[in-house]
Amino acid sequence: MTRARLILLNAALGPLDYRVPAGMSVEPGSIVVAPLGPRPMIGVVWEAERFPDVPSVGDNRLRPLLGVLDAPPLPAPLRRLIEWTAAYYLAPHAAVLRMALASMSALEGGKTVIEYRPSGALPERLTAQRAQALERIGERQGLVRELAAIGDVSDAVIRGLIKQGALEAVEVSTDLPFPRPDPDHAAISLSPGQEAAAQRLVEQVRSGESHTVLLDGVTGSGKTEVYFEAIAEALKQDRQTLVLLPEIALTEPFLDRFTARFGCAPVPWHSGLKQSDRRRAWRAIAEGEAGVVVGARSALFLPYRKLGLIVVDEAHETSFKQEEGVRYHARDVAVMRGLMESCPVVLASATPAIETRHQVELGRYEEIKLPSRYGGAELPEIIGVDLTHDPPDRGRWLAPPLVQAMRETLARGEQSLLFLNRRGYAPLTLCRHCGYRFQCPNCSAWMVEHRLTRRLACHHCGHEVPTPDSCPECHESDALVACGPGVERIADEVKALFPDARTAIVTSDTLWSPARAAAFVRDVAGGAVDIIVGTQLVTKGYHFPELTLVGVVDADLGLDGGDLRASERTYQQIVQVSGRAGRGEKPGRVFIQTRAPDAPVMRALLEGDDAAFYAAETASRRSANAPPFGRFAAIIVSDTDAALARETARRIGAAGPRQEGLEIYGPAEAPLAVLRGRHRWRLLVHARRSIDLQAIVRDWLSAIDWKSSTRVSVDVDPYSF
Ligand code: ADP
Ligand code: ZN
Ligand code: ZN
Repeated sequence: MTRARLILLNAALGPLDYRVPAGMSVEPGSIVVAPLGPRPMIGVVWEAERFPDVPSVGDNRLRPLLGVLDAPPLPAPLRRLIEWTAAYYLAPHAAVLRMALASMSALEGGKTVIEYRPSGALPERLTAQRAQALERIGERQGLVRELAAIGDVSDAVIRGLIKQGALEAVEVSTDLPFPRPDPDHAAISLSPGQEAAAQRLVEQVRSGESHTVLLDGVTGSGKTEVYFEAIAEALKQDRQTLVLLPEIALTEPFLDRFTARFGCAPVPWHSGLKQSDRRRAWRAIAEGEAGVVVGARSALFLPYRKLGLIVVDEAHETSFKQEEGVRYHARDVAVMRGLMESCPVVLASATPAIETRHQVELGRYEEIKLPSRYGGAELPEIIGVDLTHDPPDRGRWLAPPLVQAMRETLARGEQSLLFLNRRGYAPLTLCRHCGYRFQCPNCSAWMVEHRLTRRLACHHCGHEVPTPDSCPECHESDALVACGPGVERIADEVKALFPDARTAIVTSDTLWSPARAAAFVRDVAGGAVDIIVGTQLVTKGYHFPELTLVGVVDADLGLDGGDLRASERTYQQIVQVSGRAGRGEKPGRVFIQTRAPDAPVMRALLEGDDAAFYAAETASRRSANAPPFGRFAAIIVSDTDAALARETARRIGAAGPRQEGLEIYGPAEAPLAVLRGRHRWRLLVHARRSIDLQAIVRDWLSAIDWKSSTRVSVDVDPYSF
C-alpha cells in the first residue's frame, strides 16, 4: 500500500487519504498515527473501496503517516460491525470506532504504566484535604487522575501527596497474561431440561455458524448453568466468549459463579476499570488470549480475535439501550456481531422483549425453553392487594395485608424484599405555606429529596443542593413537606413498623461500585439483612434462598405517562422482582399493591398468564403499527437558547419528506423539555417496516443547516418516549 484511507478519531471528519512512507507497512485495520493540522491523531486504515466518495488527491499532495501503533489490526468482522452501526444508528464512523479503541491510551505507550499507591509513610503536616483524600484512597492504586477521582480532589492534591511521600510510584505491567478458564474445572450435573438446552447450545457453538437463540427460562430455572456449558465448548474450541451483563452491580456475583465453574475469573470490562487494567484487557482480547470476557454493553465493540459465542444475559433489560453518544441497542448490535463473526448469540431472559419474541415467531431466532425452576422450587404465589379496598394508614404506603405478611416472614426468620422504582426519600418537596416547589434550575424536573445525604438532587442532570431548613420563597421555617414515597421513605416506614428488623436500602446511591454490590450480596446471603428496600436494581439476577416475600409497593407507578413500552416494562419488572422470591427450598409469596387490579397487565400478573400478556401486548402493538411492526426514529433538537431550539426544530419539521407509509409528528417539546440547561424539541418519525428510514432521515437532515450551538441527534428505534 502506498496510500491509505483512514477513519480518524474525530467525529467531525469523514475518511481521509494519507501517504504511506517508504519502509512503513500497513493493512486494513492497522492502527496508525496521522498528522491532522499541526497535531498527531489516531486513525484506522480502511479498505478504500468501502468509502468510494472520498475526493481524490494526487499522491504528491498527501501527507505521510507518522507511525503504526504496536497493536493488532482491527479484524475485518469488527470493521464491518463499525460500518453497520454507523449506518444503522446514523452515527459518525469515528464515534463508533472510538468505542472499539476504548481509549487511545489503551494503545499508546509501552507495556508498563506508572501508578501510585499509599506508601504507608507518615508525612508531617498533611492538610485536612490531603488527609481526607488519603483516607478515601485506602489501599487502592492508580494513575494520578484515577486517584484524584477516588479521593474526590484535584490532580494537584494527589501530586502534593506524591511530593510529600505519602504516595509512592509503582511500575505496572500491562502485559501480564490472564489465567485461562478451564472448561473441565468443576462440571456440574444438569437437570434433564437443562441438559437438553445445553446440548443444543453446544451444537451451535460447534457449528460455528451465526444463529440467534432465545434462552427463555423462568426465573430460577438455571439459565446461567446452561450457557456455561456453551462457554465450556467455546473454550475447548479455543474460541472467545463475550458475556454481556446489564449492570455492573451484577458482575461480582457472576464472577464468583464463573470462578466456581471454570477455576478462574473471566476478563472484566466496564467503565470503572483502571486504565492499566483496560489496556491489559484490550490487548488480551485483541491477541485472542482472553478466553471469556464479561462486560457492560461497551464490550461489544472490542477487537476479539476469534469470537465463538456471545451471551446477552437478562437480554430484556433497558440498560442495554445506550442513550448518549452513539444511541445503540446492545442486544441488537450483539445479534449483528454474531452475524459478522459467524458465531451463535444467546439471548437469556425470563421476560423477553416483544421484539425478541416476534423474531422467534418469524422463525429467525430459535427458542429454547426452561419452563420450571431448578431443583423443584415452585414459582411464588402471587397475591394482589387492591389499594382502593385495603388502603395503607394515612401518610403510609404499605397496606395491611403486606405488613401482615412481612410480620410472618420476620417471625420465621426469613427475608423480605420491598420494591419501589424510585430513589431518594420523596419525589417532590413543596412549601406548605406558599406552595413553592423545588425544581431543578437546569431541567424541567422536580428535585428529589435524599435524607441519607440531606440533599435535594435532580435525577436527570445530577444537580444537588443541601436540603434547606426554610422555604427559599417565603422564608417560613418548618413548612417544607415531602410528597410521595421513594425507597428511603419506605425504609423509614419499615423501621417504624419493625424497629428490630435489619433493613438495607438498595439503589444506585448505595450500590455504586462492584465492591459495594459484592458486600450487599454477602450481607444478604449471610443472613445479616431481614428486609431489603430497593429500586429496579434489586429486580435483577440475584439469588437469595432465604428470601421468601416480595412486596411491590406501587405496581401502577410505571404505567402512567403513555409510553409505548410502559406495560411491557411494568410486566417485566414485576415478573423479575417476583422471581427473587422462593428460589430455595422455601416457597415464596409476592404481594402486588395496585389501584388498578383490572388493568390487563395486572390481570396477567395476578393470574400468572404469560401467554395472555404477550398476546395482548403484541396485538396492541400491531394495531398501532408500533415496534416490532412499524419503526420509529426520534430527532432531538436542543440549544441553550429556547427560541433557537424551537426555530431549528420547526425548520427541520417543515423540510420533512412526504411519503406514503411515513408520518412525522411534531416538533413538540421533548418529554423532558429542559435538560442540563438545554431546551429540547422533538420530532418523531413513524414508518412502515418496508421503508428505508435511515436513508430518509439522513437525506432530510443533510439538506438543513443549523447554528453550531444547536445539537441535532437522531435516536433510531428509540426506547422510551
Ligand atoms: P436464572 O438465571 O434462570 O434465574 P440461575 O442460573 O440463577 O437461574 O439458577 C438458579 C439457582 O439454581 C442458582 O443458585 C444456581 O446455582 C442453581 N442451579 C441451577 N442449575 C443447577 C445445577 N444443574 N446444579 C446445581 N445448582 C444449580
Ligand atoms: Zn414557602
Ligand atoms: Zn437537572
